Formats: sequence, structure tokens, C-alpha cells
Amino acid sequence: MVDSRSTQRNDVSALEILRPGHVEYDRARKVWNAMVDRRPALIVRCRETGDVAAAIALARSEDLEIGVRCGGHSVVGHAVPEGGLMIDLTPMKRVRVDPERRRAWVQGGALLGELDTAAQAHGLATTAGNVSHTGVGGLTLGGGMGWLAREHGLACDNVLSCEVVTAAGDVVRASADENPELFWGLRGGGGNFGVVTEFEFRLHATGTRAVSVELDFPVAEAAFPMARWRDLAADAPRAATYTATILDGVATLGFVWVGAPEAGEEHARELTALGRPAARRVGELSYLELQRRDDTPQGHEVRRYWKGHYFRDLGDDAIEALLGHDPSVAASLQAYGGAIADVPDEATAFSQRQTAFEYVGAARWTDPTQDEARIAAARASAARLEPFASGAYVNVLGDDGTAGVRRAYSAAKLARLTALKDTVDPDNVFHLNQNIVPSRAR
Ligand code: FAD
Repeated sequence: MVDSRSTQRNDVSALEILRPGHVEYDRARKVWNAMVDRRPALIVRCRETGDVAAAIALARSEDLEIGVRCGGHSVVGHAVPEGGLMIDLTPMKRVRVDPERRRAWVQGGALLGELDTAAQAHGLATTAGNVSHTGVGGLTLGGGMGWLAREHGLACDNVLSCEVVTAAGDVVRASADENPELFWGLRGGGGNFGVVTEFEFRLHATGTRAVSVELDFPVAEAAFPMARWRDLAADAPRAATYTATILDGVATLGFVWVGAPEAGEEHARELTALGRPAARRVGELSYLELQRRDDTPQGHEVRRYWKGHYFRDLGDDAIEALLGHDPSVAASLQAYGGAIADVPDEATAFSQRQTAFEYVGAARWTDPTQDEARIAAARASAARLEPFASGAYVNVLGDDGTAGVRRAYSAAKLARLTALKDTVDPDNVFHLNQNIVPSRAR
């Protein structure tokens, strides 16, 4: 059972509801991936926790499928239910920082940029993803990988408590002391267990400075540099997160450093072991600039498809397969390790903490007539890498279905997640996510 503090059922007539035809309806149903074009029957703009409880009650009474929207960055558009009720959390974006206690209270609809900006005003930060228009909600509930993760753990490792509205409409708190099993599941289990209306995060004195190091090599000559890059990544300081991108015939190898730039630039000298690059870019930037650097290339209004893998190690054969990637599909790698791997695997629902690198193979295009070809190219590139993969990150899964969920969690984790789902959402009210299917629905 889940201990609840209160049951809030606001008056449904007080809810702000957008229906088809409303002037704001089309903007509100639009999400990051332009491939997603679904039309909810109702969009409930939630301003407070009670609105969320009322929206859930309304959807259940009208038998409407529920989608929960924070940043809208689910690549398959899980936030938007066709003909259903969208719980739009975007008005709930308040961030409150206590610099003395190094804590942030972040509402469930906030974007990463809002958290970063509020915390950096005090020289503080917590782990967040690499694109500032991504939602705190979806990112954190699935794990949350970012430039601070090797130093301070994933976003979910920095959550101290959550306020949650359950499928039954109860408002509950989850922390190490209150509803600890729910707290376990919320840290990596995605949006399966309720709507999080507020996260409490631990902040760190990260300072405000960062360094980016990028070395370009022609793909045809990149096997040796990439193998050296992999070897250096294994022993890199935690301030460094090694990165690689392979696109359009160029392999870009390097790292991102958060902290004193002098130390980052010093570490960059180690990359001379990679050989002579065609181009070298070493640049200091502020942490906030780093967090926004990819906002435009990763912007909205573009059609997208991607596949992900985890690699526990990256052998020379896997590197060869990566370099053979379809040149139109961006292959990106980001190193894990450090504080991510310090946390015991059973401590959170998030899994596969011994991952060395996370891979995403991403296609982007604008012409709908190219949909089939672009999706096929991304699938083929990812399929070539599958033999080397050890699993997948739940937040990067797309149209992978239950097979994807089985790649994200071990059988033992899935059993524990299912037991939790059976307790808090046995009717699978929250199923527009990487779904943990309750026993009753199997
Ligand atoms: P939404 O589509 O709004 O939500 C995603 C899922 O989470 C849905 O199932 C939704 O119902 C659920 N959900 C969202 N908020 C809540 C809430 N408050 N309570 C309950 N359920 C909720 N991941 C990383 O780890 N690191 C990165 O650096 C990173 N960069 C990315 C960059 C881009 C451009 C994109 C598109 C994705 C990136 N991701 C990254 C993946 C990202 O973590 C997932 O796409 C995540 O699901 C996005 O969350 P959202 O709130 O923006 O999306």
C-alpha cells in the first residue's frame, strides 16, 4: 500500500481545458518530434497538484486514455493521447532554490533550462540533460544522463523526494522514508507510477565554467584515434565526459569538462595520443552555454527517429561497426562510469550502471516522403551494432515496445517494477510510457 497525505479532487469545472478548435489547442498538442501529430479530445492545463488529481478523475470517469506532458521530448510522443486526455504540466514550471541547504524544488512540468538557470544563479547545479528544452519530468523519471553524472550521479540519483498524484487521485510523498518502494520505482521506472508534481533535488557547488574539446577525423582514418579515445575514457577524471559523434564522413572525438577550465585544458593534452586531427576545437564556455549548446541543432519542427544501445565495453569490432554507420544517421556516444557506477544496481529502478558508453543513432529530416527511407537507415545502422550491445537506456527507447523494456531492465528488476505497478496502478491508467504492464493486464 502507498501512504497518502491527502486526496485532492478539485472541481472539474474549475479546470482549464482546451478542446479542438481552441486557439491554443494546436500549439499545446505539438511536441518535439514533428512526426507526432495526434489530437487529444481534451488538454487539461494543470496549474497545481489538485488540477492533476481532478484531470485523472475526469479521464477515468470518461474512460479517456491519459497522456502526461512535461517537455514533450518522448521521441514517440508518449505525452499526446489520440482522442484521450492530455495532462499538460507545462504551466507547472516553478523552481525554488535554497542555496544554503543546496536544494531545489522543481515542479513536474519544468524544463531543464529552468532548473539550470535558477541553480546557476548561486553557482550550483544538479545533473540534467544536454538540451535545455527537455523536460525535467520525463528525463529524471527515466534516469537522467548529463555532463555532471560522472561526478554527481544521474538526475534520479539526486532526487531526495517527490510529490506524486497516483492513479487513484491520492497525493503522496515518496522519499527514502516515505513510500520507499515507490521512491525506488520513480528513479528509473519512468512515468509508470503516477504524475510527479514536484521533485526535490540535491544541488552541488559546480561553479559556472566548462570546457568542450572536439577533434575531427575523417571516418576512413578514425579507427586508431577512436580506439585510443576509448582507452583514455576508461581512466578519465570524473569531471570529463567523453563524447563521440560520427556523421557525414567525420568522426568527432573529445570530451566535455565541467569545472576549472585550466584542468580541462590540461586534460585535453592527453588527446594528442589520438594522432593529428583534421580540425581541433578547444573552447571554454559557461555551464549555462554548455547546457544550451545543442538547443538549436536539437530543435523542434523536424521529423525524427532514433535507436539506442548501451555498451558495457567497446571492442575494436564495435568501433569498426560504428564507423560503418550510415553517414546520414548521426551516431553519438557518451561515456558513463564514475558516480553512476558507484550506486548499487538494486538501489534504484534505473539499471545497467556498469555501462561504459550510451549510443544513440538519430535520423532527422523534414520531407515526409522520406519517412520510410530515413527510419530504415537508422534501424539498419543500429542493427549492425546490436551484437555488441548490452542493453538500452529506457529514455532513448522509441517504438521498441515490450522488447525495448526488456532491454532496459533485467528480469529481476522487471519483476520488482511489476509488483510496484500492481500496487499503485493495477489498471494501467498510466500506460503511455515505456510501459511496465501490471499482472492483471497481461
Ligand atoms: P515528455 O514527452 O513530456 O514525457 C516523456 C515521458 O515521461 C512520458 O511517458 C510522460 O508521460 C512521462 N512524464 C513526463 N513528466 C512526467 C511527470 N512529471 N510525472 C509523470 N510522468 C511524466 N536524456 C538524458 O538522459 N540525457 C540527455 O542529455 C537527453 N537529451 C535529450 C535531448 C533531446 C533533444 C531529446 C528529444 C531527448 C533527450 N533525452 C535525454 C531523452 C529524454 O530524457 C526523454 O526523451 C524524456 O522522456 C523526455 O522527457 P520530457 O518530459 O521532455 O518528455
